[in-house]
Amino acid sequence: MKQTLLLLPGDGIGPEVTAEARRVAETIAPDLKIEEGLVGGAALDAHGVPLTDETLGRALASDAVLMGAVGGPKWAGVARDKRPEMGLLTLRKQMDVFANLRPAFCFPALVDASSLKHEVVDGLNLMIVRELTSGVYFGQPRGIDETSGVRRGYDTAVYTHPEIERVARVAFDIARGRTGNVCSVEKSNVMDSGLFWRQEVTLAHAEFGAGVELSHMLADSCAMELVRAPKQFDVILADNLFGDILSDEAAMLTGSIGMLPSASLGAPGTPGLYEPVHGSAPDIAGQGIANPCAAILSLEMALRWSLGREKLADMLFAAVGKALDRGARTKDLGGELSTRDMADAILAAL
Ligand code: NAD
Repeated sequence: MKQTLLLLPGDGIGPEVTAEARRVAETIAPDLKIEEGLVGGAALDAHGVPLTDETLGRALASDAVLMGAVGGPKWAGVARDKRPEMGLLTLRKQMDVFANLRPAFCFPALVDASSLKHEVVDGLNLMIVRELTSGVYFGQPRGIDETSGVRRGYDTAVYTHPEIERVARVAFDIARGRTGNVCSVEKSNVMDSGLFWRQEVTLAHAEFGAGVELSHMLADSCAMELVRAPKQFDVILADNLFGDILSDEAAMLTGSIGMLPSASLGAPGTPGLYEPVHGSAPDIAGQGIANPCAAILSLEMALRWSLGREKLADMLFAAVGKALDRGARTKDLGGELSTRDMADAILAAL
């Protein structure tokens, strides 16, 4: 049976960059069945909700989902449960994609685009594995209320044994295909949930971590080390909150946000969700100047992690590097190429 890739272009530059990823997919894997659907503001405009049950059903039945981006000023005033971002959050929750993979690598041609010194980022290649569906963003109780005349706001940071074990296993599996080092981060010095995280990762390592070297670091130290000497890391494993912050920090080591892909994986055999790290970029939407590399590299991750086509993924990654070596640059990288021309340069390198 043909593998299905569901494209959800979304809003703003989402449709512009996913159109180029689609062209690359049609070239590199012509046997893939590519479908499209609406998400975010586009779905809200057409159907009154940011994600329909029908689209969710198609996502769950696919082999991989490649999303563009959602949101924009047009929908700034809509009710919270109808906001475009809810479409994405519902998709993540319903697909149960609990492990968010955010690679941070520096293509040789872009070393000087980083705000850090050449020697600090040259050859950088790290992977952040962030727990995505639990922790303080989802814990109960949460709220803003008033007790004895004093207003207060609160969230609950909570993790269970299975939630930590399954994401730790993903990090160990990924590390085995790399240099075999996992650094787990938390705040075990001041948070009970952080201490629990450290204990559970250590237990998971004893059971499933053969061949992987595990170290631990406090999240604030990790934030410093990421800008001081980022090449000391191979795989960083973090909870939802710290992973969110550290992956954004790591992303910026590599230059433009327009270069960065991500993958969100669930249990083996279930579809993964792939998306650029960037948003819908309303400031440049419709101009045809968005960098399509993050979307194309998200396709590369889908080929690797969901579609079982590692050789094609390697080829595509190499082609992006080669196009950059040949001088292909969109505006965010200091060049003049349009979105389409950049994709053409990658296709030519393929
Ligand atoms: P953004 O990532 O959309 O844009 C930040 C800056 O980076 C902008 O100047 C933009 O022009 C630039 N940029 C982003 N992607 C680029 C690309 N591919 N090529 C060249 N330049 C690029 O973040 P923002 O401005 O904070 O958010 C805009 C909208 O996107 C908001 O509605 C936000 O909620 C939404 N958003 C969505 C996602 C998502 O869908 N996953 C993620 C982040 C933000």
